[in-house]
Formats: sequence, structure tokens, C-alpha cells
Amino acid sequence: MYNKKMYQLGSNPSAIRDLFEYGKKRKQEIGDDAVFDFSLGNPSVPSPSIVNETLIDLITNTDSCMLHGYTSAVGDLKVRESIAEYLNKTYHTSVNSNLIYLTVGAAASLTISFNALVNPGDEIVVISPFFPEYKVFIEKSGAKLVITESNQETFMPDIDEIKKCINKNTKALLINYPNNPTGVMIDEESLKALCKLLKEKEIEYHHPIYLISDEPYRELLYNNKPYLFVTNYYDNSLVCYSFSKSLSLPGERIGYILVNPRCLNAEEVYFAVCGAGRSLGFVCAPALFQYMIPNCLGYTSDLSIYETNRDILYHELSSIGYEVVKPDGAFYLFVKALEKDAVKFCENAKKFELLLVPSDSFGCSGYIRISYCVDTSMIKRSLSSFKALYDSYKEV
Ligand code: PLP
Repeated sequence: MYNKKMYQLGSNPSAIRDLFEYGKKRKQEIGDDAVFDFSLGNPSVPSPSIVNETLIDLITNTDSCMLHGYTSAVGDLKVRESIAEYLNKTYHTSVNSNLIYLTVGAAASLTISFNALVNPGDEIVVISPFFPEYKVFIEKSGAKLVITESNQETFMPDIDEIKKCINKNTKALLINYPNNPTGVMIDEESLKALCKLLKEKEIEYHHPIYLISDEPYRELLYNNKPYLFVTNYYDNSLVCYSFSKSLSLPGERIGYILVNPRCLNAEEVYFAVCGAGRSLGFVCAPALFQYMIPNCLGYTSDLSIYETNRDILYHELSSIGYEVVKPDGAFYLFVKALEKDAVKFCENAKKFELLLVPSDSFGCSGYIRISYCVDTSMIKRSLSSFKALYDSYKEV
């Protein structure tokens, strides 16, 4: 008999994937331009040209066996050195290439980190709303998922609520800013308060409580403020990074884990990361895309397109009357549903050909997520449908 839990995961695709599949069918029925698909977080802006230039150069000028061969399990040394140098220069850190582990994207960075840290009985705290796959990854690592709500007005972490969730079994707190699905970026005051709480709890329970920062949207920030790099604020921290969104490469699967050098027994934690990667069968990250990294660090896809999309949607939906959370980054807009049940609201939105994701799978009710990594022209075409959807609730 196969594993029933795995069967359940495989046979029940996520709400987001479900909607995406519905959108594909609907487009075949009524035409691509008539459906307003805001379901997936698949970057719509091409990679910066340096990506293809570097790949062509690598393919043309590098020995093929080396280019397509295994790298060391943790990733190529020169690549890791370039990442460490870039992080130190950009975020004024003193991270170390020997504590960087290359992965197949943020999903792998997260699963490896959880498996590296978790022992039976451990708990991992996440702040809702959160990326739905966290539940899958955390539970597979053997930890108990503990959910705490963010402040329902600002969507910043609610320190008092987090405090209530931390106990002797807490192994880690997972954060994600800019956030999927709200788009908010944590402010420095909240980050400092969060770190202060974790430090107090570490002292109370006599063991490290790790802060894991999931950062696939780190560069997608529109508030012109420097990114708050977590290793500068908290010693027992790990960064889970991915180039999926910054370089528009989600299908190529490339990212990394960084263990803070100030982490207690950092080298041992790093070896646990290596062991988790090994036990999960991640032999090494894709070699070609590893070798691409040094040339492309510091580049991003054209973020001005996402910013334009955000501005249009935020202003237009607010002026129609929707309650919209102002996003500082990523490419998601979080909007209050016009009825209590967001699932029903999204079903209703389909009548206006709007494909919106209900917030329930993000661990929070009553909202919808709009992925605005889409063509600006589609956003403009969709506005009359958003207005008609809004008006349909006024008529009830
Ligand atoms: N974490 C968050 C918050 C995400 O939104 C995503 C993807 O959308 C991931 C992790 C996984 O990213 P990757 O494609 O790098 O595995």
C-alpha cells in the first residue's frame, strides 16, 4: 500500500493550482483575452539580458563535462564565494562562503532547513497569512505547525500573539518579507521586537530558537528602503533564498541557504543542512545555473513593470471601494473579500472572469490574493470586471 498522506497531497492540488488549471480551460472556451487570471506567482517580466548572455557564454566557452557535471554537494566553491562577497557588500554582513549551501530554489531551501533543525516533538511557528506550502514542508519534517495571526490592520507580526505560541518545544519561527500573500515588508521596529522576544525565549528555555527568513522576494521592494537583512538582527538565523523571482527563473530551480556565522555552533548547523540535503536526495543544485550566478548577482528583472501594476491595481481597486492592503513589495495584492466567505466570493468573481485566490489556504479568512505579475494590459482590461463584481454586492 502506498503512503496515504502522500496520496492525499498528490491528489489534492493546491487551491492556487486548481484555479490556474480552471483558467487554462476557460481561456480555451472564451479566449485568452477574456479571462483575467490573477492566480499564480509566475514572473511575467523576462529575465535581465545578463542571464541569457551569461548562459550563452558558459555554453560556448566552458568544457561541457564540467558545465553539466556534478558539482560538490554544497555547491561550487567559487559560486558560494561570489554570493558571500555580494551579501557582505550589499547588506554589510560578514557571512562566510563555507556556510552557504546551494539549493533548487526556496522550496528546497525551506525543506532542507526544516529537516536540518527539527527533532521529534519540535514546533515551528508561522505567521498568517503565509505561503500555503509551508504547512506541507513543515509537517513533512516531523514538526508541528503552529500558526499565529499577524496584526489584522498592518499585517506586521503581532509580538504578543507570537509570545503566546512559543514554548519549550519551539524550534524556529519562520518569516517571509516582502510577504506572500500581503506584499508587506516588515518594519525595523517590528523586526527588532521580534528578535528581542526570541532572545528572551532562548534564555528562558535554554536552547536556540531559530529565525528562518524565507526571502524569494527580497529584491522586489518598492519602498526605496534598504532590505532588513536578518543576520544583522538575530544570531540564530538562517536565510532561505531563491533566484526564482528576482531573475524570473522559477522553472530553473536555483537558490541557496545561508547559515548565519553568528549562529550557535554554526558549522554544526551547516553540516545538519548538508545532511538534510543529502537525505532528501538533493545531490547538487543545477550546475549550469550555479555557474550563472556570479555574473548575475545584483541584477533583477525590470521591477518597474511590477511597480506600475501595483500602482494601477492599488489605486483603481481602492477608488472602486475595495479595502486593499498597500504592498511594499513582491507582486501580490491582498484585498478584503466582499463577503465573509472568501471561497464563495472567489467563486462569484469567476462569473466576471476574475480568477482570484481565496485567503483560506494562506491560513487566514476573509481576503483574496491577486497576483499582479501579469501583463499591465490585462490589469487595465480587468478593471471594469472588478467594478462590476463590486457593484453586484451593492445590489444584494
Ligand atoms: N516561499 C514563498 C513565500 C513563495 O511565494 C514561493 C513561491 O512562490 C516559494 C517560497 C518557493 O519558491 P521557489 O520557486 O524558489 O521554490
